[in-house]
Amino acid sequence: MKNKNLIAVLPGDGIGPEVMKEALKVLNFVNNHYHLNIETKVSEVGGQAIDLYGEALPDKTLELCQKSKAILFGSVGGSKWDKLPPEKRPERASLLFLRKHFNLFANLRPCKVLKDLSPLKEERIQNGVDLMCVRELTGGLYFGEKGKKFNKHGEKGAFDTLNYFEKEVQRIATLAFKLARKRKKKVTSIDKANVLTSMVLWRETVKKVSKNFEDVSLEHIYVDNMSMQLMLNPSPYDVLLCPNSFGDILSDQCAGLSGSLGLLPSASLGENNFGLYEPAGGIAPDLVGKNKANPLAQIHSLSLLLRYSFENDKAASLIEKAIDKVLEKGIRTRDLFTSKTQTLVGTKEMGDEVVKEMEKLC
Ligand code: NAD
Repeated sequence: MKNKNLIAVLPGDGIGPEVMKEALKVLNFVNNHYHLNIETKVSEVGGQAIDLYGEALPDKTLELCQKSKAILFGSVGGSKWDKLPPEKRPERASLLFLRKHFNLFANLRPCKVLKDLSPLKEERIQNGVDLMCVRELTGGLYFGEKGKKFNKHGEKGAFDTLNYFEKEVQRIATLAFKLARKRKKKVTSIDKANVLTSMVLWRETVKKVSKNFEDVSLEHIYVDNMSMQLMLNPSPYDVLLCPNSFGDILSDQCAGLSGSLGLLPSASLGENNFGLYEPAGGIAPDLVGKNKANPLAQIHSLSLLLRYSFENDKAASLIEKAIDKVLEKGIRTRDLFTSKTQTLVGTKEMGDEVVKEMEKLC
């Protein structure tokens, strides 16, 4: 049975445990402040679990996830386990398995851009960039029929199929419009309807869904143009609604815009508010055990968890405002440090600063 107050905490490998510790500090603060009664249980995942139990997602970890309201995930992987067969390796056997097992059909990646970090010239981002990339995660090109074949001359070939059903598009589009309603009320739907039949269906279905959201504006854009606009003029965009494969690429382009992996959270959502929340980055092998990793992506992932799985906008906004304040003050971990006028801090100190700002904001 589900415990509606339980979060499964899976720190994983590399910097996972270090940044997770800071996120749990932040959770402890909001839990006490808002009397949320949230419980957490920690379990092993990834390489750490392979060493202890012989598999990346032991039964006890999966059972914990099953009875929880949400999963707060760190990161998994590492060269130690690279020689295992692909299906046994930490990422495939734990993270990808969980996405599939819980039918997490939507991936959300918010992306705000700090002027001193973005690779774009200041004049291109002076009006601010605040995007929410909404990627369909369980359909499309990555899940269509695939195979190898030979033509009549005996030449070897291979194929993948891009296939969408109306229901899959309706589900992700509805989520995108609901999110836009709480933001700048604008959805940009990305497709390639000029060449791909499945994308004509995508466009028609998104249009139909938009009729239920007349307060939200909708525009359609071809993926190649969107990719260019993100470099030339990203400010006017709000929610980007993407098919799986296009979203995979554009969400990393958004990550590039923001300048550091250490800042980017993500949420993978299923039905009934269940979700898996994790930083966009990996185990950062170069930073492990050095108190140098940026914990903000993990802390921001926690705020997404509170917003989408616990529907607690207040607690989520408090965390997000505190993160913004810390960055505005020029407090930076190494990955964000661009000028001597800023204050360089470690992983633990960054977590403490976020808690301090939350105390001030309350
Ligand atoms: P990575 O994200 O671990 O590192 C890429 C770069 O980003 C490094 O320079 C790293 O220091 C930096 N970085 C990442 N997170 C950071 C943070 N929080 N603060 C500061 N800097 C940060 O990606 P990689 O090097 O391609 O992969 C290393 C390992 O991580 C591989 O074993 C890979 O399989 C695994 N990985 C796991 C996940 C996941 O668990 N979701 C995602 C990506 C990679």
